[in-house]
Amino acid sequence: MLNLTINGRSVTADEGMTVLEAASRAGIAIPTLCHHPKLSPFGGCRLCIVEIEGIPRAVTSCTTPAADGMVVSTSTPRIEDIRKTILELLLSDHPNDCMVCEVAGQCTLQDLAYQYGIRENPYSGERRTYETRDGNPFIERDMEKCILCSRCIKVCEEVQGVGAIDFAYRGFKAKVCPPFEHDLNCEFCGQCVQVCPTGALTGKSWSQKGRQRGVRKVDTTCTYCGTGCNISLYVKNNEIIRVGSDAGKWNEGWLCVKGRFAYGFVNSPDRLTKPLIKKKGKFEEVSWDEALDYTASKLKQIIKKHKPDSVGGLSSARCTNEDNYLFQKLIRAAVGTNNVDHCARL
Ligand code: SF4
Ligand code: SF4
Ligand code: SF4
Repeated sequence: MLNLTINGRSVTADEGMTVLEAASRAGIAIPTLCHHPKLSPFGGCRLCIVEIEGIPRAVTSCTTPAADGMVVSTSTPRIEDIRKTILELLLSDHPNDCMVCEVAGQCTLQDLAYQYGIRENPYSGERRTYETRDGNPFIERDMEKCILCSRCIKVCEEVQGVGAIDFAYRGFKAKVCPPFEHDLNCEFCGQCVQVCPTGALTGKSWSQKGRQRGVRKVDTTCTYCGTGCNISLYVKNNEIIRVGSDAGKWNEGWLCVKGRFAYGFVNSPDRLTKPLIKKKGKFEEVSWDEALDYTASKLKQIIKKHKPDSVGGLSSARCTNEDNYLFQKLIRAAVGTNNVDHCARL
């Protein structure tokens, strides 16, 4: 156990923790853009700089290991002045089009610009422009808004194990792109979208569907497979407009392409929403009571004539564990057979 002083408070840290982690555990917030608790430190945005007694220059707290006896200040006039300048430089070639940006109201860069009162930019000048948009089917890559924080690169490599993107070029021309600047062609898990602190990466299907106002967040379980990831549905006018996942739950906010982007079926007009029974060779809509009575009577007839083992139940990976538990209970206890299975995945 290490003992530090941060902003005059005694704080303990585990061996191997960084100053940023020690501060965060003690509830002391330090602004960052490139840091993500699940990814290796980068030290690229420089916003997490702090002063440490005995070190003349400001250091990045995300890459500095905590040490016993360290005395740290996270917010001094000098540090805040440098942070403001860093933000102004980051925004110097940023489009600043929060008025039409998909993530306005949910953007860390916008929040920090607000916090530091950055209205006019003393460094504005040449801007990066990307004339072509990426033609991939899922992810909108609006790279003028990229601040080169590397979170997307790291999550793709360290969490997803894919390595579909990386930095290319140097200096002002530096950009995040797939190999040879081709269109993105990857697993489309959207982990990069989840961790991007700006509007550089969003879902193509989210476009112009709504931002924060009038949008309800509904936490639920993904129905695509038995893994049961937590998902958050963002719902407006009774329609799902995007899907996210909370980092604090067991799947840590990571999803697959189906869970994150394949929600169009929910509002599809092709979807069956009422039970159908085939009568005289044609499907007819019936009430749930009629459908259940009909199914029960047919099952009873079959069981009477051919014994329970003539019946089998096949359940679905798209149901929750609880639904599947009840289904096997129905087949074993009510029908009286162990012929029950589950498609396990799609
Ligand atoms: S990425 Fe953030 S700061 Fe940039 S335009 Fe969008 S909301 Fe504004
Ligand atoms: S696309 Fe987003 S996550 Fe990736 S480097 Fe740019 S700002 Fe960071
Ligand atoms: S969608 Fe997934 S696989 Fe594709 S670049 Fe982003 S993190 Fe990598």
